[in-house]
Amino acid sequence: MNTYDVIIIGGGLAGLTSAIDLSKDGLQVLLLEKETYPKHKVCGEYVSNEISPYLNRLGVNFETTPPDEIHSLQLSDRKGQLVEIKLPLGGFGISRYAFDHLLFKKAKANGVDFVFETVTDVEFIDDRFTIKTAQQTFMSILAIGSFGKRSNLDKKMDRSFITQKTPWIGIKAHYTSSDFPEGSVQLHNFEGGYCGLSKTETGAVNFCYLAHYDTFKKANSIEDFNHKILSQNPHLKSFLETSKMDFEKHLAISQVSFQNKKAVEHHMLMAGDSAGLIHPLCGNGMAMAIHSAKLVSNEIKSFFKHKNRDKLEANYSRIWKKTFQKRLIFGSIFQKILLQPQLTRYGMWIVLKSPFLLRKMIQQTHGKPIQ
Ligand SMILES: Cc1cc2nc3c(=O)[nH]c(=O)nc-3n(C[C@H](O)[C@H](O)[C@H](O)COP(=O)(O)OP(=O)(O)OC[C@H]3O[C@@H](n4cnc5c(N)ncnc54)[C@H](O)[C@@H]3O)c2cc1C
Repeated sequence: MNTYDVIIIGGGLAGLTSAIDLSKDGLQVLLLEKETYPKHKVCGEYVSNEISPYLNRLGVNFETTPPDEIHSLQLSDRKGQLVEIKLPLGGFGISRYAFDHLLFKKAKANGVDFVFETVTDVEFIDDRFTIKTAQQTFMSILAIGSFGKRSNLDKKMDRSFITQKTPWIGIKAHYTSSDFPEGSVQLHNFEGGYCGLSKTETGAVNFCYLAHYDTFKKANSIEDFNHKILSQNPHLKSFLETSKMDFEKHLAISQVSFQNKKAVEHHMLMAGDSAGLIHPLCGNGMAMAIHSAKLVSNEIKSFFKHKNRDKLEANYSRIWKKTFQKRLIFGSIFQKILLQPQLTRYGMWIVLKSPFLLRKMIQQTHGKPIQ
């Protein structure tokens, strides 16, 4: 059986970017993904420019699907009080349907092998990984776990966060809106959650929110929840009344977990949400997933020179923490502020007087551009 240099489990942004980076360096890479491309995913679809120079260096070319450039943020509290600021770094709006597909095509062109099956088991024996799907078995020297927020493999690997129930639900759909402002991402607060709005490459507006189950269960359906709870915020009310949904129905995910995770588990190097998910209001999970792909790829490339697994694992854990831990802490503080009406009121009062403070807060959850 052929032994790959690296097998990547999960082909979202972290897995696909790692595949592109490693294959560019001549490594033999197999990516195992349970779904096929293109496919819509629950995500706010605002990407920070932190990773733009890196994607550029990897040769990822957006010419066929130019994203919507985003420069400003509009933030509102439950009652609709609004503050607008220029984003420190800015970003772009692109659907996951187009983004993941674009990266897949680039990885394929680089010579990455793809198998579209669900991984059911991973073993590490005699310094090699044996990775199984229901139909096939594969072997590799290294393995990257980039299987997202929550996967069958987290259970299989007995990861500590998986036993804890989480009350968060994510909902998303694309809408046609004739008067959505150019170049802006919006974040609107409502009871028990917040909703992001931003334009994608097709011109459609992505409507995506995170809601606490305690509030969500007050409604009979997503439509009822949108009407009863989201629409208490006048900006969301107006958006929902004046826009038309492009999807047949909303996409939904549950059990969104923000628990701490480890960057290395059973010798597998975790990247993207598999290593840790930042609160979505920061609009930075995708950039973190791509940034983590760069970190893991760099460590893997140096491993193939020194061949010291202990050093690889220790270095990756250290650099992951150093790069992301502070952002996760600030993300969790901001989420707490936004979900407590009194704190949000004080927060809005302060940032309305000094929008510069909001820019500073955003900087705490975002990194500098990477090459
Ligand atoms: C409501 C919400 C809104 C968000 N909004 C934003 C935003 O506006 N901006 C932003 O930057 N981030 C946002 N995020 C975060 C962002 O979506 C994630 O951080 C990002 O998708 C992480 O990418 P990933 O590659 O780690 O995981 P994913 O994109 O989830 O990819 C994981 C892949 O692994 C595959 N997989 C899982 N298990 C297996 C298996 N056993 N075998 C094979 N394949 C498997 C899955 O099919 C999937 O394709 C949001 C998140 C939520 C929940």
